[in-house]
Amino acid sequence: MRYPDDANPVVTLTTGPVNAYAEVLRGLSRTVLYDNDPAFQHFYERVVGKAQKAMRLSNRPVILQGEPVMGLEAAAASLISRDDVVLNLASGVYGKGFGGWARRHSPNLLEIETAYNDAIDPQAVADMLKEHPEITVVSVCHHDTPSGTINPIDEIGAIVSAHGAYLIVDAVSSFGGMKTHPEDCKADIYVTGANKCLGAPPGLTLLGVSDRGWAKMKANPTAPRASVLSILDWENAWSREKPFPFTPSVAEINGLDVALDLYLNEGPEAVWARHALTAKATRAGARAMGLSLWAASEEIASPTTTAISTPEGVDEKVLRQVVRERYGVVLSSGRGATLGKLTRIGHMGPTAQPIYAVVALTALGGALNALGQRLPVGKGIEAALAVIDAEA
Ligand SMILES: *Cc1c(COP(=O)(O)O)cnc(C)c1O
Repeated sequence: MRYPDDANPVVTLTTGPVNAYAEVLRGLSRTVLYDNDPAFQHFYERVVGKAQKAMRLSNRPVILQGEPVMGLEAAAASLISRDDVVLNLASGVYGKGFGGWARRHSPNLLEIETAYNDAIDPQAVADMLKEHPEITVVSVCHHDTPSGTINPIDEIGAIVSAHGAYLIVDAVSSFGGMKTHPEDCKADIYVTGANKCLGAPPGLTLLGVSDRGWAKMKANPTAPRASVLSILDWENAWSREKPFPFTPSVAEINGLDVALDLYLNEGPEAVWARHALTAKATRAGARAMGLSLWAASEEIASPTTTAISTPEGVDEKVLRQVVRERYGVVLSSGRGATLGKLTRIGHMGPTAQPIYAVVALTALGGALNALGQRLPVGKGIEAALAVIDAEA
């Protein structure tokens, strides 16, 4: 075995956490300042300002000290109260999972669920809101990563806003890799993180909260306060004049600062373009090799993840093992309902580079052939290169 399990792989092309940018890793090693030192308070305010710029927010975002699953749970706990009627939109494992958190805070849960290779139809949301005017909160996952599919959140957000309900958006694995911002979709709480397209290690959540989102949380007596799950505690932490509710993850903030600089200096549009091109090349190559994309249509396939259906007769777990053992490449499996049915190639942050489409396809095709398939791997590579070279 060339690449044993207990040795590091050569390339990690996962759907998060991603292998962080080298510059971010160097940022993590900066001095750990005391959190109440004025130099750190100035620095923290500047980092929040960079996050505000990246998120194109008119108010200040919040940084929570935990990876984004914690941010999602915090959003449910903070915004939803017993009197709310929640409409959860589920087109995959994360969307469905959010309903479980919502139900802890309100027993009134309605749901629209699609097949997990499909996307939510905005018209279905409009119809549901018309039928149930009592709905006060809508929740949606933008990119349901275990399916590699995108929901039209800007359209959904416009509909939810016209109805007057609050909107919670999980944009953990899309923000920073495609055009999406909290105010574009009129989110009241927009949850994203450092460990996907921003190319930093896991450990921080970024939240965009609207002014009415703040007002609702403040009026919610059950919203966590003096708690690690609290959003309210951190409302004023951005200000160098205000103390932190508890110790911020100083090293992670150092890393986030660099990740935000990289994103803003390269230019968001350029960053999104390399994500889109890498995904497009991967899809073209997979098809030319005779593989099927998991997404029901190319329009809803994510620019940050390509999910490829597992061919008949192949054990998906064994497939990823062979990919790793033979070539030293790490890919992601499905999760929950999609586990075993697909393999995912991540194009996030540092791995959203077109040449990685060729690397991933070569390893995947080679491993499938080692398992007895007869895929024309060369055709896949040629198709991927044709996409890449057309934009050279
Ligand atoms: C990665 C991810 C999360 C958060 O997962 P972590 O384990 O905290 O990184 C939430 N939602 C989506 C859609 C994700 O892709």
